[in-house]
Amino acid sequence: MNSSNHGSGSAGFAGGLFGARMGAVHEVMGRTPRKFDPPRDDKGKRLRISEFFGMNTFDLPKMKERLPKEAYQKLVAALQMGKKIDRDVANAVAHAVRDWAMDRGVTHFCHWFQPQTGSTAEKHDAFLTFDENQKPIEKFTGSMLIQSEPDASSFPSGGMRTTFEARGYTAWDASSPMFIMESASTKTLCVPSVFISYHGDALDEKTGLLRSIEVLSQKATELLALMGEKGIQRVVPTLGIEQEYFLIDRAFWSLRPDLAMSGRTLLGGQPPKGQQLEDHYFGSIPARVQAFMAESEYELYKLGVPIKTRHNEVAPSQYETAPIFEEADIATDHNQLVMEVLRKVALRHNLSVLLHEKPFAGVNGSGKHCNWSMMIKGSSPELDGENLLEPGKTPHENLRFLLLLSAILFGVKKHAGMLRAGIASSGNDHRLGANEAPPAILSVFLGDLLTRICDELEKGSAKDVNVEAAVLKLGIGKMPEVAKDNTDRNRTSPFAFTGNKFEFRAVGSSASTAFPVTLVNAAVADGMAELTLKLKQKLQTLALDAAILETIRETIRETKTIRFEGNGYSEEWVIEAQKRGLPNLRKTPEALAQLVTELSRETVVKLGIFTEAEMVSRFHVRLERYLKNMAIEVETLRSMIDTQVLPAAISYHGVLSGSVIAAKAAGVRAPQLPLLEKVTDLLDALQTRRDALEKSWVAAEAMTSEEAKAESYAKSVATEMAALRAASDELEAVLADESWPLPKYREMLFMA
Ligand code: ADP
Ligand code: MG
Repeated sequence: MNSSNHGSGSAGFAGGLFGARMGAVHEVMGRTPRKFDPPRDDKGKRLRISEFFGMNTFDLPKMKERLPKEAYQKLVAALQMGKKIDRDVANAVAHAVRDWAMDRGVTHFCHWFQPQTGSTAEKHDAFLTFDENQKPIEKFTGSMLIQSEPDASSFPSGGMRTTFEARGYTAWDASSPMFIMESASTKTLCVPSVFISYHGDALDEKTGLLRSIEVLSQKATELLALMGEKGIQRVVPTLGIEQEYFLIDRAFWSLRPDLAMSGRTLLGGQPPKGQQLEDHYFGSIPARVQAFMAESEYELYKLGVPIKTRHNEVAPSQYETAPIFEEADIATDHNQLVMEVLRKVALRHNLSVLLHEKPFAGVNGSGKHCNWSMMIKGSSPELDGENLLEPGKTPHENLRFLLLLSAILFGVKKHAGMLRAGIASSGNDHRLGANEAPPAILSVFLGDLLTRICDELEKGSAKDVNVEAAVLKLGIGKMPEVAKDNTDRNRTSPFAFTGNKFEFRAVGSSASTAFPVTLVNAAVADGMAELTLKLKQKLQTLALDAAILETIRETIRETKTIRFEGNGYSEEWVIEAQKRGLPNLRKTPEALAQLVTELSRETVVKLGIFTEAEMVSRFHVRLERYLKNMAIEVETLRSMIDTQVLPAAISYHGVLSGSVIAAKAAGVRAPQLPLLEKVTDLLDALQTRRDALEKSWVAAEAMTSEEAKAESYAKSVATEMAALRAASDELEAVLADESWPLPKYREMLFMA
């Protein structure tokens, strides 16, 4: 065996064992950006993005071109009103989409759905079948489009399905366009679908989201109608999802069992330079990364995902991509595609995308900021597409704005626990409340001007019958300034108003947005229902504008404790929040418990978003996932210690001991003796901590209830993992560089 080419042969202890890391470093240093040829026309001229955007989606313009006129009109009407699609329309769509897809070389179709795993699932079927003369033909009918039956017994259901009735079915979600997924030399038609059991229970992430969108629309139109708004057909939540991620070289990823198994580094000493120089944020994008981004964007444009923004993020090797916002269900589908395309394209560039919330200790983690608002779908062009969280120009428009804002404050305050539960995961535990991410305490940031308006509102009373004058006094006329006020906004708030939308910043980078956004919709819908009641009651004694103003005033007062404008990262806020009685649910198990409180269960059932059983099953699915993730992490960590760190430390210990003996035999001093003693101590500590972890793990696993087990993982196991890591990181700082078996932070994070 020849290991001397990595410079370790002479030392004689490390080359054979640990040459892999040095090899990876050399390989990475030699990489050049992958050449990527953007799409061109027949004459070789580069196409504009607008010329190939959506070429792989069967969107409305393509349907219009290919469907019989009547079928197209029926489809559009159904979509506009969020209604069911007729069988004959489905047949026409199936026929048209089959021809369109086959023209493009598609051979298979699949129902593309989102089980409660956080990602997507698909089962492909060929169009191929036989006609009555046993002649092979391609077939795709309305019923194949509408419904499919995957063998679904292995998807998480949280105990909702017993195995003997394990079958569920997927059903076409016509609101999200079908698309062609290309992979090497195959092309598959993907039909966005929901996934439900035979009893109609939601087994997936999407069904609840769609139901929440529906009820939000209902409650919003009711409230708006009560305040005299006309021509509003529906109100839809809009969503713009900023996706943060890390990018490291694939060679390093392959050498890190922790990244491969758990998505985050479970070990790794801090490099001298992290993000303290602030030289990465918005810096120039490295050429290799730029090539990767461009190619991912090209793939996403083909799929109709409107990517708009790309930039470096705060931590070294951290980046962000963000699309133009869309209706919440489409945005959620598109974010799944974003994650998938990033992963796939990274491989072509010898890169690995890390979507985990905290892949590296000591530098920022990654979030998925959900920019959320509500948009009018109306009969007139002036109304249609209007953003309801855009402060208006007239006093009446601003009353409307403040009323909706109050409804949101009400919903977030009442359901802070449930909203926190929606973003709970083992990954997000490392991010929330760490000093660069929003705290685990839910609060709302409004900005200076709105805060002043709220403060003024609180002081007023129902006797201000001259609403016009009261509104002027409040400075509500200055509302358009609100957007400006929020450009330099508070980045420490988990739920911040940013001028014309809210930014739910606490969502984790690897999460599906479906569940968190379902819960936001639920909380706001509940807030709007409550305000509708209040307003109705006040209308018995007050004129409309006065009743609205009074409803706003009352709600602003009631929800005062949820508003926080200060530094969400500070220790003082934790204390202050406790005084205010706001929940501070630091870890997943205690956060998840909020899903099954009486309040949460009642709310989602009342709104028709989930049944009791569906909500409880969501709790179980998430708790189970937490337990599994934690167990994978512990097992990975233990095996890395046993098979990589300990052997490296023992072998280095041996080398030092040998050289001390040699020095003594030669009759010279042995100045390496203190180092040997230090390594001995660290080796001792490592073994002690390793055994302690094992013990706490065994204790956790011995717990009988899942809740107790989770609690144990969150507390003692997590603490022991951190202690073991600290011991290993200390060894890393002392062991000869070439004898360290894992790629180091310094190498992984500063590759480009
Ligand atoms: P920042 O990094 O400053 O938060 P970005 O430009 O990265 O801002 O992202 C803002 C996101 O908010 C974009 O995806 C944008 O499309 C989205 N957005 C803008 N207006 C709305 C809206 N009315 N509803 C939902 N999302 C919106
Ligand atoms: Mg951004």
